[in-house]
Amino acid sequence: MHNSLLATLRNRLTNVASVELVSVLSLLQNVATNNAPDDRFLTHGSSFSSRKAYSLLSSDHEIDLNAGYIWSSKAPIKVRIFGWLLCHDRLSTMANLHHKTITSHPNCPRCTTSHEDALHVSILCPYALQVWALLGLQPPHSIHRIWDTTTPVGLDINIWPTVGLAILWKLWDFKNALVFRNELHTPQITLRNIVSDFTLWVLRFKDSVSWEAAMSWRLYLASRCNL
Ligand SMILES: [Zn+2]
Repeated sequence: MHNSLLATLRNRLTNVASVELVSVLSLLQNVATNNAPDDRFLTHGSSFSSRKAYSLLSSDHEIDLNAGYIWSSKAPIKVRIFGWLLCHDRLSTMANLHHKTITSHPNCPRCTTSHEDALHVSILCPYALQVWALLGLQPPHSIHRIWDTTTPVGLDINIWPTVGLAILWKLWDFKNALVFRNELHTPQITLRNIVSDFTLWVLRFKDSVSWEAAMSWRLYLASRCNL
């Protein structure tokens, strides 16, 4: 279903369409089709009706706090999509691949001792902890608390979601570099890659106040490379 859906779409999607596609694919991830007649129902098994569906969609039901931080950040769209998938533990981590019987074990390719899920990749892996330490930042207790991380005094908290995504993006890239490119990134290399990406993203802050705040963050991150 995943591939057939992609095959019907044009290659170039707008940002909005890309976000909607991620949501749809995320919903379809665990769907298996069969030849039985379609059964339409709402959440919790309630029978479907237009009235019930409208009521559900227009009510103040569960709000995902990650959404505002991720989608309003200045990270490129592919990184925002990555962040969304990470927060919902939908990335192809070893734990998820093992759950789908794609890999024979769920262990982290970096430390090789623990299950590699979203939390491990971003925070718990000893390698990730070294990167957080080099950054001079307290690692968050969970993925969903990353937006509440205490940031250095004098730096604008409004820039933090973009910085946080740069960190998470490069922590994930370490694993991909190792598995797919046979490159071993030290924590120092990852830190420099974070600075390199964020330096480019600073240009995405268009108003002068935000740009200066982002530049202050860039200077802080760069200073951590020289310790
Ligand atoms: Zn690990």
